[in-house]
Amino acid sequence: MIKFLDLQKINLVYQQEIEDRLLSTFRSGWYLLGNEVSNFENNLKNYIGTPQAIGVANGLDALRLIFRAYIEMGIMKAGDEVLVPSNTYIASMLAISDNGLVPVLVEPEMDTYNIDSSEIESKITSKTKAILLVHLYGRVVFSEALTTIADKYDLKIVEDNAQAIGASWNGLKAGNLGDAAGFSFYPGKNLGALGDAGAVTCKDEELAKTIRAIANYGSNQKYINIYKGLNSRLDEIQAGVLDVKLKYIDAENQYRREIAARYIQEINNDQIIKPEMPADPNEHVWHLFVIRTSDRDKLQKHLLDQGIQTLIHYPIPPHQQAAYAEWNQLSFPKSERIHNEVLSLPISPVMTKEEIALVIQNLNDYN
Ligand SMILES: *Cc1c(COP(=O)(O)O)cnc(C)c1O
Repeated sequence: MIKFLDLQKINLVYQQEIEDRLLSTFRSGWYLLGNEVSNFENNLKNYIGTPQAIGVANGLDALRLIFRAYIEMGIMKAGDEVLVPSNTYIASMLAISDNGLVPVLVEPEMDTYNIDSSEIESKITSKTKAILLVHLYGRVVFSEALTTIADKYDLKIVEDNAQAIGASWNGLKAGNLGDAAGFSFYPGKNLGALGDAGAVTCKDEELAKTIRAIANYGSNQKYINIYKGLNSRLDEIQAGVLDVKLKYIDAENQYRREIAARYIQEINNDQIIKPEMPADPNEHVWHLFVIRTSDRDKLQKHLLDQGIQTLIHYPIPPHQQAAYAEWNQLSFPKSERIHNEVLSLPISPVMTKEEIALVIQNLNDYN
């Protein structure tokens, strides 16, 4: 059986180093907001290139906290609109609507699955305050045109960088392209913890300070509460594990790129639409390798019969979810098509050459 993602195998590569960190935190008696978190925050901000990094409880909170801080700072208010790609994972939308802001859906491009910049300007109103750029499947979306639009309409650029840690655009890392970025370290992400974890990176010190306070009961100083805050902190244990794995993320992402290059070169079946390798390969870290085909369920069953696990990212578009009943009548044909046709193949830093070859062979044999 070729698993879609073998988390045990992925983490056992670093068994000794991770166990040493876990044991040292266990023995230290200090479990929250200590040296492991500040150390990881420092290493993360150096890696991403931003002056600020804040560890938080998970990726959804990272994004929620960014918008919440903008509201507390008077930069946004309830009812303001945020543009977001219509085919993203629902967490991107939840981070917006949870703050009383209104997600405005924008269709993606079919060849990158990322937000279509040419669709953005027509969606901007006097209430638009931000664009939430989602680097979906690990591919960066950014351009001069995007910055020009953001400048022209005075919009914040927030990055949902849950899937693209380590990717870069023109030498700048994802997470350092806009005003602020949310990261997820959910176990299955390219940099995965042993449970939930997340982070925010940003440029503005005031924004970072506000996020830090909101995430800690709205307090900068014990028992002095300036915001109606949350409890969203990164655990010392998770920070230690992430700090170990951060050292290896570039090597792991490079191996993912090599798998993607092989899939792109060697899968040759007319029924399968493959993703493209960006002209600059650094723009993609291949969190997911997503193909499309007209009879997706048949292909998924064929692969499973051959012992190959695949997943669908994602089966139902956000605008057709019961949670967003107000959107159920809207139509986003590109997103709908994507959701009907996509299939994610196994890709990971621990896949063997034999496993890669088997996936390719079974796709080429399919008809
Ligand atoms: C995983 C993910 C999130 C949420 O992260 P969690 O850590 O699971 O809360 C947000 N956006 C995208 C695009 C994701 O893939």
